[in-house]
Amino acid sequence: MKIIDIIKNTQKTLFTFEILPPLKGDNIFDVYGNIDPLMEFNPPFINVTYHREETVLKPLPNGLYQKKVIRKRPGTVGLCAAIMHRYKVEAVPHLLCGGFTREETENVLIELDFLGIQNVLALRGDSQKGQRYFIPEPDGNHYAYQLVEQIQNLNKGIYLDEEIENNTPTNFCIGVAGYPEKHFEAPNLHIDIQNLKRKVDAGADYIITQLFFDNQKYFDFVDKCRNAGIGVPIIPGLKPLSTKKQLSLIPHMFHVDIPDELSIEILKAKDNRAVRQIGIEWTIQQSKELIKAGVPVLHYYSMGKSDNIYQVAKSVF
Ligand code: FAD
Repeated sequence: MKIIDIIKNTQKTLFTFEILPPLKGDNIFDVYGNIDPLMEFNPPFINVTYHREETVLKPLPNGLYQKKVIRKRPGTVGLCAAIMHRYKVEAVPHLLCGGFTREETENVLIELDFLGIQNVLALRGDSQKGQRYFIPEPDGNHYAYQLVEQIQNLNKGIYLDEEIENNTPTNFCIGVAGYPEKHFEAPNLHIDIQNLKRKVDAGADYIITQLFFDNQKYFDFVDKCRNAGIGVPIIPGLKPLSTKKQLSLIPHMFHVDIPDELSIEILKAKDNRAVRQIGIEWTIQQSKELIKAGVPVLHYYSMGKSDNIYQVAKSVF
């Protein structure tokens, strides 16, 4: 079923979450171990992140280093198929512009279609380590709105090779990313929202937001999107903090603020067990307020660990 139809048909706020494919060499059963407990809250869909190849320096016995290009977390498409088979829910693979030519993107979409995967989250991806700016593949999509356009073309049966004889259309529902605190490359929120609108105008069905810790930022963002003519559902993304280190890591990685009140409580906590509890309580309060405001879906970022999301969901859903 398409995510947009799930959203349209729901009378209450739904619980959903995002997981990461396992590190190369790890077991798929570790991922199931994270998902199994969360199934108690009836998620209608589960998102699976996509991780690009990275260049790493491997030390050699002679003291020099060798450059190696590796993908630490392959398996997004396979994991989606496995999730749909095991849990009978929709799985939403994240699909990037970065690292793909448009031809390769088309081929992945065909593969997803054959697997019965009808939903994708269309993203640009970040720049590679050591690169100042995002650089697309030659003949790759540069921005997420172009990826949305390509998927919508395929939905109309328009393939890259115009000479293809049987133009079987696909039927993808497309989600895109939104940033209540602005994407870090955008000069201001106004321009970022104009760029978000391009994705919606290109055919995105709904938006999932970057994580945030201050609901007011989400409410203001939704108002600004509506004023800019963006009418699609905007799903809030939440993550419970769990370590003191995240006070500096999360703003650095995701370009979001941590409210004073939350950071003061975390700094006062005597250990990470206490921090974990503070993070859970904070996310519970955020979730309750968002449900009261009538959001159709709450989307939780697991980042590979689901126990604190379980605690949140247990008291909210
Ligand atoms: P875009 O929408 O293309 O925007 C990127 C930047 O370009 C923005 O600053 C925007 O304002 C600007 N822009 C857009 N269009 C134009 C234009 N026409 N002209 C000028 N500027 C323009 N990353 C991963 O690698 N794997 C994942 O699985 C993953 N999952 C994510 C899930 C969610 C919900 C979110 C919020 C992010 C996720 N990311 C993931 C991170 C994402 O790839 C990065 O944030 C990336 O830097 C931007 O992606 P985007 O799709 O928002 O890009």
